[in-house]
Order: sequence, then structure tokens, then C-alpha cells
Amino acid sequence: MNSSFDPTGLHTELFIDGVWRNAASGATFPVENPATHEIIAHVADGGREEARAAIEAAGRAQATWGKSTPRERADILRRAFELVVANTDRLAAIMTAEMGKPLAEARGEVAYGADMLRWFSEEAVRIGGDSATSVDGNTRILITKEPVGPSVLVTPWNFPLAMGARKIAPAVAAGCTMVFKPAELTPLTSLALVALFKEAGLPDGVLNVVTTSGASSVVRTWTDSGIARKISFTGSTGVGKILLKQAAENVMRSSMELGGNAPFIILADADIEKAVDGAMKAKMRNMGEACTAANRFFVHRSVVEEFSEKFAKKISELRVGDGGVEGTEVGPLIEQKGLDKVEGLVRDAVSKGARVLTGGSRREGPGYFYTPTVLTDVSLDSELMSTEIFGPVAAISPFDSEDEVLRLANDTEWGLVGYVFTENMDKALRFSAELEVGMVGVNTGLVSNPAAPFGGVKQSGLGREGGKIGIEEFLETKYTAISI
Ligand code: ADP
Repeated sequence: MNSSFDPTGLHTELFIDGVWRNAASGATFPVENPATHEIIAHVADGGREEARAAIEAAGRAQATWGKSTPRERADILRRAFELVVANTDRLAAIMTAEMGKPLAEARGEVAYGADMLRWFSEEAVRIGGDSATSVDGNTRILITKEPVGPSVLVTPWNFPLAMGARKIAPAVAAGCTMVFKPAELTPLTSLALVALFKEAGLPDGVLNVVTTSGASSVVRTWTDSGIARKISFTGSTGVGKILLKQAAENVMRSSMELGGNAPFIILADADIEKAVDGAMKAKMRNMGEACTAANRFFVHRSVVEEFSEKFAKKISELRVGDGGVEGTEVGPLIEQKGLDKVEGLVRDAVSKGARVLTGGSRREGPGYFYTPTVLTDVSLDSELMSTEIFGPVAAISPFDSEDEVLRLANDTEWGLVGYVFTENMDKALRFSAELEVGMVGVNTGLVSNPAAPFGGVKQSGLGREGGKIGIEEFLETKYTAISI
């Protein structure tokens, strides 16, 4: 069965102050299906003028929205959750058409994104505070929470629905207004999500969206505006650093979900079936185009052969093709650049002695397809050891001691997530404590969950999305001293 993608009713305009409109210049940019190269839509190409209008709308709406009741915000999020769930198939079809992931994964992402909306609808009414007494006993200290204010949201293309939902939901719950710039490669899912928020009753001006082919000038307009108080970004570490510098000029609060270089560690006592299952999820979800993707497999020498063979067999059986065809398990990469990068990384690893157990080449087009690949005996000086692969390529290196593998795992500037497989809980806890990451998967290849604080340390970012602390990213703490 082919994709149910249907362009009828698709939003392709900017959304500013509650109104859908085109760019003043009339400019648009094309959106391509990476499996077929077909242009599926032309989307409004906003510039500085539209960016300015959007942030001004967010600025105007903040005063009223910031005083909305927690119940009102919770109810809007709950309705948005229900609408997203009711529109699962339509959203999944849009996402697959513009991004390439298989429909089954796209539906899974809709469920995850929807769950973020539900989680924060529940958190909206639980924003607490605190009170204390001054050390001399003369003052009552009252601690309250307030929305941080108009927030800039910038998202990547790899999870077009979930990344938007993960930022919009806590911002709505906290009472912040927003200007939102989705990735230029995948704007359609975000526009569809925003339309559902309007339907759910989000007041005009609270959420404004500018799609653009000129990311830097739109986002710069926002960070320079003096209106925006916060930036929440998910994307590459390089762009994150640029945005942190821009945010610094106006001392904006910043949340950054940046790149990763996840180690996937299999100890000698691991359950190999569990490890293979976890590896499939940690490597192959989203064609490997995830910041949480396992990038470096370190496997104890005593089990490396068994694991590699079983893993390579499963990988070689995956059905590769157009994600819009039901039953496809691995879709195309997002664009030519990504495909060229993956090809270059594999070539480099092979030139340094890696053996190809399965895959190892791009697939004939159309579509940016790379055959799922397992490399073993990967030399530690291969480029893919220090580069986010962002593709369906697993690189396996053996290790001998636990101290050695911890040193290798931590030998990176990134620190988003690490995976460890062992049947020994003491060892699991040791690795959990010693891995320099924000998240650890023990005997699991999947860590994302609305109830969990998602985020990294080192150059993987600042702040957390989800969990109890997720809403704090959009809240300011105020302290009032009351003389008693
Ligand atoms: P990726 O490598 O995953 O595409 P990027 O960091 O390049 O990640 O992109 C993530 C998001 O950041 C996208 O929405 C993109 O348009 C935006 N972006 C890229 N460059 C800039 C920039 N200089 N200023 C602001 N946003 C940017």
C-alpha cells in the first residue's frame, strides 16, 4: 500500500498572530520527498519582515497569556493531544513524505509527540513554589514561578513532530508565547501541528511560525529583538554555539539539545539477544538519523564475534525502501549531503582496516538510500569515531577491560547518551555513574520518554526536555521578601 500522503488542506503559509499568510515578497521554497525527489509542496519563505511581525505578536500576547490560568493552559494542551492522536495517520503521512522515515516509525513519533502534549497538560497545573524563613527570622521568603516570556524555538528535520511538540508543550504549560522556526527540509509537519493548536483553542499570537530558507536572518531578528527572553534549540553543536553567542548579547535563557556520539557498550556477561535487540533500536531507529543513535559499538572481545554476526544478520534482513510504502523498515537519508557524508565515513573506516559484515554502499537512486551497514574491527582513529554518523552504519570495535572501555567511551566532547548491556547490576550502576553523559540506557536501546529529563552534558547541550524538570526551562524564579 502506498503512502496516504494527500496535499489537500496542507498548510504552507506562515502563521503570525493567529493568521495564515504568505511572505510579503511572495517567495516560497520547495519541499522534497527524499525517497523520490518529488517536490511535494512549496512553502512560504519568510524573511526579516515576517520574523519581526512574529516576535512582535508574541511580545504583545505575552502579558495576557502569562496571566492565563493553569487549567486553561492544561485544557488547551489536552485538546491538542487528542487532536494529534486523532490525526495520527495524516500527520505520519506528511512526515514520511517530507522526511523519509517509514510510516510505522512516523506513527510512533506522533504517539511520542502527543504524549509530550499530554505530559505537559498534566504539569501545567502543578507549577509549584516554595517558602522559607530568613536566617535572622525577620523575613518570610516567598518563592514563586513565572513564565520566562517570549521564547524562540528552533527545531531540526530528523523528528519533525516530536521536536516541535517537546518545546511547544512546556512553553504553553508555563505560559510563554513563542516564535517557532522549523527546519527548512521538513516544515509541513510543524505547520500541521500548529494548525491543530489553533483548533485546540490556543489564543492568537501565542504561537507564531515562520518557515524560511534563510534560518540565520530570521533567528537573528528574534535574538536581536529585545523582545525574546529565551531560546530553545535542537540541532547541531556548531549551530548551537552560534545561537548561544547570539543569545548572550541579550542575556537570553538558553536550552540546547545538540549532537551526540553515543557509546553502545556490551560487557562480557551481557545477554546477547537483548543486546542485539537494543542495538537495532539504538542504531536503526530513524535510519540512524538521531542524536541518540549509537555511534560507537564497544563490544567485549569474548562476545564480539557472536554479537557482530547476529547483529549483521538482522541488519541485512531489513526492508529498505520508500518509507511511504507500508512494511518498509529503513527509509532514505534526508539529503545528498548526508548520503555523501555517510559514504565518506565508511570509506575512511574501511581504508583504516574495518571489515564490512553487511552493506557498505549506497543504493541506486532515486532517493538518498544507503544500505544498512555493519563494520567490525573499526580502528579507533577512524573519522566515524569522532563524527556523528547520522546514517544506518554500525561501527564495532572490541575492548578488553572495563576501565579501557570507560576511557574510550568518555573520550569525546559530546555527552548525550550512553548504552550499557550487562546482567550485573553493580556493573550497570558503575557505568551509569562513570559515563559522562546526560542519559544512560541499561539493557535498552531507547531512552526517550515524556516522563524522563532528556538532555546532555559537555558539548551535547544545556537544559532538559521532559520529565518533572522540563517545565523549569520555561519558568523564571521570583523571590519576595516579606518583613514579619
Ligand atoms: P542539522 O545538521 O541536523 O540539519 P542544524 O543545526 O543545521 O542541524 O539545523 C537545525 C536547525 O537550525 C534548523 O531549523 C536550521 O534551519 C537551523 N539553523 C541552521 N543554521 C542556523 C543559523 N545560523 N541560525 C539559526 N538557525 C539555524
